[in-house]
Amino acid sequence: MEPIDLRSDTLTRPGPQMRRAMADAVVGDDVYGEDPTVNALEARVAEMLGHEAGLFCATGSLANMVGVAASVGRGQELLAESRAHILRSEVGGHGAIAGITSRTWISPDGTLEAADALALAESPRGYSSVGTALIAVENTHNFSGGRIAAIDQLRELRARTAERGIRVHMDGARVANAVVAEGSSFADQGAVADSVSICLSKGLGAPVGSVLTGSRELIDEARYLRKRYGGGMRQAGILAAAGHVALDQNIERLADDHAHADLIARTVAEAVPGAADPGSVQTNIVMLNPGRVGVPAERLAQAAGERGVRILALNELECRLVTHLDVSAEQAQEAASILAEVTEELAAAAG
Ligand SMILES: *Cc1c(COP(=O)(O)O)cnc(C)c1O
Repeated sequence: MEPIDLRSDTLTRPGPQMRRAMADAVVGDDVYGEDPTVNALEARVAEMLGHEAGLFCATGSLANMVGVAASVGRGQELLAESRAHILRSEVGGHGAIAGITSRTWISPDGTLEAADALALAESPRGYSSVGTALIAVENTHNFSGGRIAAIDQLRELRARTAERGIRVHMDGARVANAVVAEGSSFADQGAVADSVSICLSKGLGAPVGSVLTGSRELIDEARYLRKRYGGGMRQAGILAAAGHVALDQNIERLADDHAHADLIARTVAEAVPGAADPGSVQTNIVMLNPGRVGVPAERLAQAAGERGVRILALNELECRLVTHLDVSAEQAQEAASILAEVTEELAAAAG
């Protein structure tokens, strides 16, 4: 059996139609602003979100990096949730490269409460505190299991930060999952943030690329920083062409990934109550809680892998799995059965 790989939705591979679009792309030198396929993609994503301009970046980390650094000066701070990707999984770039400091609020289940973020904000700056320049929200919230940041909380955050001159950046790597699951629109999401980064290479299935959107002024600054960080690409239309196909074909189908994640969580929870919490699954990410039934996360990941289902041990207690484009309904069913079986055996052995 081909392994069913649920370690991440970054694992999707471009299919024949996407590859053909890449091969046929009309290109130019994007550092000169002359790649029509890149220009069209930037304009397209900006328009989806109701923003003035867009910037194509090689990675989500780069889009977050330049988006945040365009709004936060050296020594100023950004606030984010304690497990935000921007702070946990981007190798400290904001601090190491842009001199940005940060503080965090804690949301145990990843749910966004505007009040938690606002309670930390220091604006204007005090005699011993740096000013809060920006609050970064993550939609969906990766390491809490794909939680949606509810649109009403985002609206409240936007209204209250605007009064205080604090910007909002949305790490929207999976904002398309939130839109499809919640029934909000991309314009709703764009309206609650000064800048949004969206990944084309996760559930949307492109091999490479993220787009940052914002005001013309913010994007001009981000474009300048992108070049400084070595992220100016030349005939990048070959990559942007894949992004167009991803947007054409792979948004609505995210609902299938969400149904598959729900199925897996329910199947595991039925076999071993406590090992998964189906009620917390909102999109395409499932956190399994082997720790709660006496099984080390690493043991579960290894045993599942030996039976052909690859998942990730995130820490001692939790495993993460992510459904995506390259996992069929049959494979999701199969993965659910195998994970339930393995969890049951290990939990029984743990007594
Ligand atoms: C994947 C991801 C990113 C970007 O990661 P890259 O590996 O740099 O593409 C940013 N934010 C979140 C929440 C992510 O899941």
